[in-house]
Amino acid sequence: MDPAATQTPAAVLWDIDGTLLTSGGVAARAFLEAVEQVTGRAPIPDGIEFGGRIDPEIAQLLLETIEHDVSHVPAALAHYHDLMRERTEALNSRTRALPGVQALVSELAQAQVRQTVVTGNIRSVAAMKLAAAGLVPPIDVEAGGYGDSGATRADVAAAGLQSLFGAEWRSRAAECWIIGDTPRDLACARAVGTRCALVATGRTPMDALVGLGADVVLSGLETSEDLRRFWG
Ligand SMILES: [Mg+2]
Repeated sequence: MDPAATQTPAAVLWDIDGTLLTSGGVAARAFLEAVEQVTGRAPIPDGIEFGGRIDPEIAQLLLETIEHDVSHVPAALAHYHDLMRERTEALNSRTRALPGVQALVSELAQAQVRQTVVTGNIRSVAAMKLAAAGLVPPIDVEAGGYGDSGATRADVAAAGLQSLFGAEWRSRAAECWIIGDTPRDLACARAVGTRCALVATGRTPMDALVGLGADVVLSGLETSEDLRRFWG
């Protein structure tokens, strides 16, 4: 472990789905319905691996399943936003922070660690999900990188760091952690130079996360001693 590893992080940038919370299928259903209502055809999600992808990419993949023009991505996302607004009540009642999340974000807040997100969710939906899970504050949704902040997840991560540190972000990245639940979270962390913890609380099982090269791999955040060891 190098000395830089054992210090309080300058910031923690959280993935949302499968890492901080589950929205009980409310968002996933709204996404499929949005594509269907915009195109007139039901997309075929079977066999598509959505984990860690950004929403515009998911919209494109769904449109491709019905051979629909991908220029409809913005319309599908706008309609998805509208459906989620209409379903705030369902979202609020079905969304749960995952075990250990509340305790860990509170602990980090007490230690004055800045917390925001690097997520594939578009900003408006990310804010709804985080509020539904009771995570705002301490998670700062004014900052962060979102599915509509860049063309790739690496761009989204860069946007998240830039929102915290401005033009200096590259020199601060190594002091920050991205915490996610998929190999794509690790890939974006590596692309921007942050540290990375992966947690097996999403759809990717522990044995598929171990060995990818993350700094820490955890079965869940309720047993995050390995992470706390890095943070002194
Ligand atoms: Mg995730």
